[in-house]
Amino acid sequence: MFIKVPKGTQDILPEDISKWYYVEGVIKEILNKYGYKEIRTPFFEYTDLFVRGIGESTDIVTKEMFTFPDRKGRSLTLRPEGTAPVVRAYLENSMERISKAIKLFYLGPMFRCEKPQAGRFRQFNQFGIEVIGTKSSAADAEVILTVLDVYKKLGLKSLEILINSVGCKKCRVDYIQKLKKYLKDKKGFLCSECKERYDKNPLRVLDCKKDSCKKNIEQAPLIIENLCQECESHFSEVKSYLDNQKIVFHEDPRLVRGLDYYTKTAFEIISGGLGAQNAIGGGGRYDDLVEELGGKPTPAVGFAAGIERMIIAIDQQKVEWPVEKRLDIFVAKVNEKNKDTAFRLLQKIRNTGLSADMDYSGGSLKSQMRIANKIRARYTIIVGEEELSKNMVILRNMQTKEQKEVQIDNLIDELSSCIDSM
Ligand code: AMP
Repeated sequence: MFIKVPKGTQDILPEDISKWYYVEGVIKEILNKYGYKEIRTPFFEYTDLFVRGIGESTDIVTKEMFTFPDRKGRSLTLRPEGTAPVVRAYLENSMERISKAIKLFYLGPMFRCEKPQAGRFRQFNQFGIEVIGTKSSAADAEVILTVLDVYKKLGLKSLEILINSVGCKKCRVDYIQKLKKYLKDKKGFLCSECKERYDKNPLRVLDCKKDSCKKNIEQAPLIIENLCQECESHFSEVKSYLDNQKIVFHEDPRLVRGLDYYTKTAFEIISGGLGAQNAIGGGGRYDDLVEELGGKPTPAVGFAAGIERMIIAIDQQKVEWPVEKRLDIFVAKVNEKNKDTAFRLLQKIRNTGLSADMDYSGGSLKSQMRIANKIRARYTIIVGEEELSKNMVILRNMQTKEQKEVQIDNLIDELSSCIDSM
């Protein structure tokens, strides 16, 4: 019995890696266009960062974190999300000194101990953007436009943008009281999780997916109708920026996200054809998080998207992936006696910047040609004794099957012109 990959994780195999390179390349290209700089934080942090950052009573903190002690007994957690670590790094490195508002992005694995299902993993990859240091509603709209630009460049269609405002510290207190008052006599009909949420985090009852809860919150007061003046005008400004850019969005007054740090704008992007796990990304404003993690009051807004779900959506929507780059040259030898010359030529070709490879298993010329065909090399150079005695090798175009003898001294020039003309 061999050991298998842990539950909820997966290998990204060589045959799929070009999809990842492509998606990551598009993400970096677009984020660069919008002025974001990459930040790489550790894969694990002190547990307290997430407990304080994401919220003690959230599903992520109560049920989904991979937490373990280090050798001195300090509690560490594999990062379940990227915003708290980025804010920690922002504070630790006094990034407010770089500029008043800073635009950062990250890309990498996150870890959540959720029940695995299609599109839901225990190790998954996210790209995320954070704009820290501005309260402008234009920044909220720009975050949405940025990610839409990424999806557009990838060819994703059938996207739905859901948007809501979850208010701020000021208006939320009153609203939560109203909500609790409404839920009080319905508590007995809520699911066991929502019964707990009623005390610890009543806002989360609003987006419970269970039918019994959904039915009981139908008439619940909406936060959108209980916003303070500042939150209300912020929300209308965000919507009007989106309208001006002709972005179609839907207001979802029950959208509250799974992380406690959101204030004002919250949004989610849903992709058709993904089944139950149809959210490909989500984000919002988090004006209190920097302060909660020990900094000065600093408004901020951000977004995170799951890369696995983006790749699944691209496949399901049958968007064509770019053609994979092929190996330029395969070097084959007629027999083992020509091995050293073949090896020298191989390295010389690579030094010019062309991609090249050869087979070291000592197989016949026929088996080497089979390999060259299988890996879809564009040209093969055949190194044989007869040609070598004339200081020549054979150059074979693998597509047309035409071949000719080429002087070794002219080989590199010859290869460059063949490859350029393709
Ligand atoms: P969140 O950090 O929960 O706001 O999630 C942002 C995005 O990350 C989601 O919209 C998904 O695309 C992706 N995501 C979250 N959790 C998972 C998971 N367990 N497996 C795969 N993707 C996920």
